[in-house]
Amino acid sequence: MLIRAGTLVDAAGQRPGDLRVGADGRIAELGQALAPRPDEPAVDAHGCLVVPGGIDVHTHMHLPVGAVRVSDDFASGTRAAAVGGTTTVIDYVTTYRGQDPLAAMETWRRWAQPSAVDWGLHMTFTGAVDEATVAACVEAGVTSFKLYMAYPQLLQVDDGVIVDVMRMAARHGGLVTLHCENGGAVEALRRQALTEGRTGVIEHATTRPALLEGEATARAAVLAEVVGCPVYVVHVSSAPALAAVRAAQERGVAVLAETCPQYLYLDVGRLAGDDGAAFVCTPPLRDPWHAEELWEGLRQGWLHTVATDHCPFWLADRRAGTRGRAAGYADFTELLGGLPGIETRLALVWEGVRAGRLTPADWVRLCAEAPARVFGLWPGKGHLGVGADADIVVWDPRRTQALDADRLHMAADHSPYAGRTVTGWPALVLSRGRVVARDGHFVGEAGWGRFVARTPRG
Ligand code: MN
Repeated sequence: MLIRAGTLVDAAGQRPGDLRVGADGRIAELGQALAPRPDEPAVDAHGCLVVPGGIDVHTHMHLPVGAVRVSDDFASGTRAAAVGGTTTVIDYVTTYRGQDPLAAMETWRRWAQPSAVDWGLHMTFTGAVDEATVAACVEAGVTSFKLYMAYPQLLQVDDGVIVDVMRMAARHGGLVTLHCENGGAVEALRRQALTEGRTGVIEHATTRPALLEGEATARAAVLAEVVGCPVYVVHVSSAPALAAVRAAQERGVAVLAETCPQYLYLDVGRLAGDDGAAFVCTPPLRDPWHAEELWEGLRQGWLHTVATDHCPFWLADRRAGTRGRAAGYADFTELLGGLPGIETRLALVWEGVRAGRLTPADWVRLCAEAPARVFGLWPGKGHLGVGADADIVVWDPRRTQALDADRLHMAADHSPYAGRTVTGWPALVLSRGRVVARDGHFVGEAGWGRFVARTPRG
């Protein structure tokens, strides 16, 4: 296939050009005025941007949570990803305390088989782990490890485990990703709220203050500094956390950081509405001024990636809560946390380009190139270069798209962005040279996606 007369954009900038996709599903040629070959399909990309497919490095599909399960499985979630221009996802294998990580990895690999786009996995550890397990993950192409500094009952590890896993990961070329909130302090605030009879949805936010995210982020950076390894902070939501990231970077610590569209566009006021339970995520939505800081962090490069933390639930499940109560959740500690987002990420970050906050090159860097580099997918993905996978998005900056749930493809009956229309949406999406979405419709197939074994850090 020849994609002609578009504007090629990567993190280095933009230039007019053509792109040829080879029969092997890789980029075969880039250039000016490439001549079509006999019988070669041609796509006119005039007025469109031609960019590497989006890479969403933070998703939760099929995940069991309490009495329910995340509403998207890998088939539906990756279908939605494709329509929105994301051609690779990295999902978190989530082992709850007491579960065997390597057995869980096999479960996730089985669940992921119906994926419509390529997929990789991160591993979660919820307790001390031996070095052979870390080595086995890296050997299997699962080169990043999630540790939680919050959720003491289910997921949290102490600082000693963090240091041990950081050391082992560094030795094997792995990267530790951290959920940074001070879980012990959060639990105390939650108990206090219940004692005082404060049980409403808003207490999800009041008991998880930004300062406790900032504290844990600073501590994570210090632990990485002591061990002498990089660390990746997931879903930075607040100014104190961003300040901790910056402070560590300024003293030379390799702190990589991610934010998510919900922290750029939504604020804590949503939790006060009748449908507040549909806006619960962790960390919680913040006061609106934090978002201004996060945009600046993206522009300046203090934040490296935008991922989604895609974790949708049906409204009925949200009302029933983690215990699946027919009468509805009893208090804010039973709320399901997580938002749909895998389909809308590129468009929402592109809105930042339209608003003059970011350049098109920033957009590609944040949504594709940096995720590929950080997580061992570069240069096969996230890259407009000969030999790279032809995971390509032809982005139409004029195309409008309503973000209401019934206009999107995620398994969700509510949308955090309902009522909002974005301008900019994929006209065409290719996964390894195969068209998987066209004009807002999915035209790929379940099972097309392959597991991507990631490269350890050098
Ligand atoms: Mn997550």
